[in-house]
Amino acid sequence: MIVTGPPVEIPDTSLTSFVLERAARHGDAVAIVDVDGATRYTYAELVTAVRRAAAGLRARGFGRGDVLAVLAPNVPEYPIVVHAAVAAGGAVVVLNPLDTADDLAARLTEAGARLLVTVPAEADKALELTRRTPVDEVVVLGEAAGTTPFSALPVDGPPPEPDVDPAEDMAALLHSSGSTGHPKGVVLTHRNMIAKALLTSLVAPSGEGARVLAVPPFHHAFGLTMMMNASLVQGSTMVTMRRFDPEAFLKAIQDHRVTHLYIVPTMAVLLARSPLVDRYDLSSLRSIVSGGAALDPAVADLVRRRVGCDIAQGYGLTESMVSFMQDRVPAAPASVGRPAPGVECKVVDVDTGEVLGPDRDGEVLIRGPQVMKGYLDAEEATRRVLEPDGFLRTGDLGHVDADGELFLVDRIKELIKYNGQQVSPVELEAVLLTHPKVADAAVVGVPDEQAGEVPKGFVVTREPATPEELMAFVAERVAPYKKIRRIGFVDRIPRTPVGKVERRTLKERDNAA
Ligand code: AMP
Repeated sequence: MIVTGPPVEIPDTSLTSFVLERAARHGDAVAIVDVDGATRYTYAELVTAVRRAAAGLRARGFGRGDVLAVLAPNVPEYPIVVHAAVAAGGAVVVLNPLDTADDLAARLTEAGARLLVTVPAEADKALELTRRTPVDEVVVLGEAAGTTPFSALPVDGPPPEPDVDPAEDMAALLHSSGSTGHPKGVVLTHRNMIAKALLTSLVAPSGEGARVLAVPPFHHAFGLTMMMNASLVQGSTMVTMRRFDPEAFLKAIQDHRVTHLYIVPTMAVLLARSPLVDRYDLSSLRSIVSGGAALDPAVADLVRRRVGCDIAQGYGLTESMVSFMQDRVPAAPASVGRPAPGVECKVVDVDTGEVLGPDRDGEVLIRGPQVMKGYLDAEEATRRVLEPDGFLRTGDLGHVDADGELFLVDRIKELIKYNGQQVSPVELEAVLLTHPKVADAAVVGVPDEQAGEVPKGFVVTREPATPEELMAFVAERVAPYKKIRRIGFVDRIPRTPVGKVERRTLKERDNAA
C-alpha cells in the first residue's frame, strides 16, 4: 500500500526567486526581529539587504558552484546571509557552533567552502579554521580583528540573475549521519528547498500577522525549513533567539506575543511540566508544531490543556523534512499524521522488501520533491538510502493505518536523538575504544523523559575503570550535545555473526534492568 498526500506543484525556479518574490509582497511588515528588539528588518529591507549582499558576493567572484559556510546561532542576519549566497548562484553549508573544531574542519573541507560567515564570539575559532581548511576569508556579523565585517560586503548594483538548474544545483548542505556512521553532507537542491518551504506553509501555515519564535537552530533542517524559509515566504514575523533557555524562551513568547511555535519535544516537556510556565502570559499562542523526535502523547495533552493551544506533531528527516504532519485535532495518539502534499509513503518488510498493507510494521520509505539529491561525494552511502525509483529509506520502523496515518514504533538505523539533535553511536564507540582501559564498547540511546533519549555506553574493560572517568574522557573529545551520559559495564558486547553490534539486545537488556 502506498499512501499519498494531496498533489502540489513545485515552481521551477531558483530558491531565491521563490523566497524573494513572496517576501517582496509583504513590504512594511516586520520580517525579522531579534529577541531583545535591537535589530529588525521589514520585508522590504530584507529583500534589499539580500540583493545587495548577493551583489557583493558576486563582485568578489562568488557564484555558481561555490559554497559559503555559516557558523552562527540564530541571529537576525542569518537569513540574509543564506539567501544572499543562494541568490549569487552558490550554496550554503550551515554549521553547528557546538561542534568541535575537528568536526567543523572536516565539514568545511568536504564542502570546499572558501568564505566563512560567523559572529564575533566565534571569530577566533573561525580564524583558526582557515589554517586547516579551504576557507580563506572570515566574514563577521559585527567586528573582530583579522576578519571582514559583513557590513563591508553589500554593494549597490543590479542583483545577480540567478543562473541555476533548480532540480540539480545545490542550494544548501546540511549534515546527518543517516542510517549509520559519521555525519554526511545532505545535498538539498533549490527544488528541495522550495518544496520544503511550500509544504511547510501548507501543513503548518502561519501567514501575515503571525509571530513565529525561531528557537530551533537554523543549522538544522527543522529550523532552516520551518522558520527561515516557510515563515518568510508567508509574511510572518520571525523572532530570532540565539540559544534555548527555559526562562528566556517563555519570556520571548510573552513579550513578543508569539503566535506560532516550532519546538522539539524537550520544549514541550517544559511547557507541560515546568512551574515556570505559570509566571508568563502565553495566551498569544495559537499553534505549536513539534518535530525532530517523538512527542509523547501524554505530554502533548498536558500542553493542550495547560497552554490552551493546539499542538501537532510533524515527522521528517534532514534528508526529507516535512514529510508527515498531524492534521486532525487530536490526531490518533502517537501518530505522526498523514503525508504532506506531494509526498508518497510505503512501508516495507525489513527482511524481504515486500510492500506491506495497513497496520503492519516495517521500514518507512518516503518519496517526494523534498527528498534530498544525495549525500555529498558519498555514492555508496547514497545508494544505501535512496532507491533507484526515488524512495528514501528512512531507517524508521512503523506502520500506516487504514486512514493513512503513520505510526512510528522504533528506529532501525543507528541514530540517537538527544533533545532532537543527532548523535551517532558509531562516532562515540570510536572515541570510547581509544581509551586505554576499554577493550570493547557499544553505544545505544536509552529513554529519558527530558531529552527523549540519552547516549549510554556499554563497556568491556581491560582493567577497572569508573563510569565518571570514561564519560569525562568522551566529553573532552566530542561536542557537548554528544556526551555519553550513562555507562554500563558488561562482560561481552553482543554482536551478530558479521560483527555488527546488536544494539536492540542492549536496549532491551537496559530496559529490563
Ligand atoms: P533529523 O535528520 O535530525 O531530523 O532526524 C530524523 C529522525 O528523527 C527521523 O528519522 C526519526 O527517527 C526522528 N524523528 C523525527 N521526527 C519524529 C517524530 N515526530 N516522531 C518520532 N521520531 C521522529
